[in-house]
Amino acid sequence: MDTIQIKDKTFAVSIHEADIQREVARVASEINRDLEGKNPLFLSVLNGSFMFTADLMKHITIPCEISFVKLASYQGVSSTGVIKEVIGINEDLAGRTIVIVEDIVDTGLTMQRLLDTLGTRHPKEIHIASLLVKPDKLTVPLNIEYVAMRIPNDFIVGYGLDYDGLGRNYRNIYTVVD
Ligand code: 5GP
Repeated sequence: MDTIQIKDKTFAVSIHEADIQREVARVASEINRDLEGKNPLFLSVLNGSFMFTADLMKHITIPCEISFVKLASYQGVSSTGVIKEVIGINEDLAGRTIVIVEDIVDTGLTMQRLLDTLGTRHPKEIHIASLLVKPDKLTVPLNIEYVAMRIPNDFIVGYGLDYDGLGRNYRNIYTVVD
């Protein structure tokens, strides 16, 4: 399937399954190399990273734990308007090596919010693994050590990422066609 239609938008395949899988395996081998002996706790950010997380973890060979968090958005009284609350952290993070597993870093504001929240729980160190990064959109200085792929500023779906709730199930990544 080279093009898909979701509601009012047409998307064309931009990253094929085989290329995604190759880069995900590479990221996993970097993590295996760097975090050996640290018993990292992977924190997968739902919903978008579910597919990336599953494929990544199949290649992680060091002892580790995995848990899932979610960001609940609500309108609040703040300078940015929308506040994202992190829900679902049940583990004691004190002294732990954390790896945040995200689907995509765009402006980086979501990741910054996550780092701030997790930081209050006194982990030993926090690493970031993101399937995708849009480097030209990044407005916050972030040290994203593990990146599967860097992409242009276009809107994408597939491999866990959605458009209006749809499209998460596709094996490839698709870019919106103007
Ligand atoms: P940020 O806070 O970095 O600007 O945005 C991160 C979030 O925006 C991601 O977790 C994701 O939910 C959403 N996002 C950013 N770019 C895209 C995109 O191209 N496609 C989809 N489906 N979601 C995106």
